[in-house]
Amino acid sequence: KLSTESLNLSFGTKQVLKNITVSFNEHEIAALIGPSGCGKSTLLRTFNRMHDLFPDAHIDGRLKLEELDLYDKTIPVTEIRKRIGMVFQKANPFPKSIYENIAYGLRINNLPHNKDVVEKALREAFLWEEVKDDLKMPATRLSGGQQQRLCIARAVALRPEVILMDEPCSALDPVSTLKIEELITHLKEKYTIVIVTHNMQQAQRIADKTVFMYLGEIKEEGATQDIFNFPKNEVTANYIKGQF
Ligand code: ATP
Ligand code: MG
Repeated sequence: KLSTESLNLSFGTKQVLKNITVSFNEHEIAALIGPSGCGKSTLLRTFNRMHDLFPDAHIDGRLKLEELDLYDKTIPVTEIRKRIGMVFQKANPFPKSIYENIAYGLRINNLPHNKDVVEKALREAFLWEEVKDDLKMPATRLSGGQQQRLCIARAVALRPEVILMDEPCSALDPVSTLKIEELITHLKEKYTIVIVTHNMQQAQRIADKTVFMYLGEIKEEGATQDIFNFPKNEVTANYIKGQF
């Protein structure tokens, strides 16, 4: 389980996350929705300690993966990023071959890397059949949807517990999007998944739970069907109706 308790985050004097208490469970897909600038990406990045390098970032509150304190400074950030994988809006494969995209990630994390492990990761990301004869090809020659699945393969190769996805389909066509949705739904058997999306249909298709953020706060959360059919908060209702 991935969780925060009373999390506040500011950049200088600007408070971007306000008193966020939320948890994400295993075998569950959670959709994080809300208007642009409400703090969705910032919340995801916080789990990965991506603000460590920002001198003006100030965080208080607790973030935990099971009993592990994610801000325990004795734990290397590489360890945290191995356990909590991240996939971004724009697929960002390394400028290397398809094979090396997986093998390199394993190598820098001191994990065994061989053909079998690479194949397993590519299979798990529903990509193997399409690339098995082109493993030496530069990853940048793949289509956008394939590159995104490669990035998912790179994340799952590290055997994470959680996969965070920040608008993974927003640069993709509808067919690639559905393929990735199918993949994400399959991955939930093994991982805790949090996906940021602006696509309300997507949230309803794949998410078990939906969390609505507004101006740095969580306004409402619950079972996806309840949030979309019976929102309790007027702001939530207006947002999902597209009135923003
Ligand atoms: P979108 O849907 O457009 O991606 P978002 O919900 O992901 O929006 P964030 O990117 O999390 O929004 O940004 C939330 C707020 O935090 C914005 O006002 C943004 O300007 C601010 N912010 C993010 N990173 C920084 C930073 N490093 N320094 C200062 N402000 C920041
Ligand atoms: Mg964002």
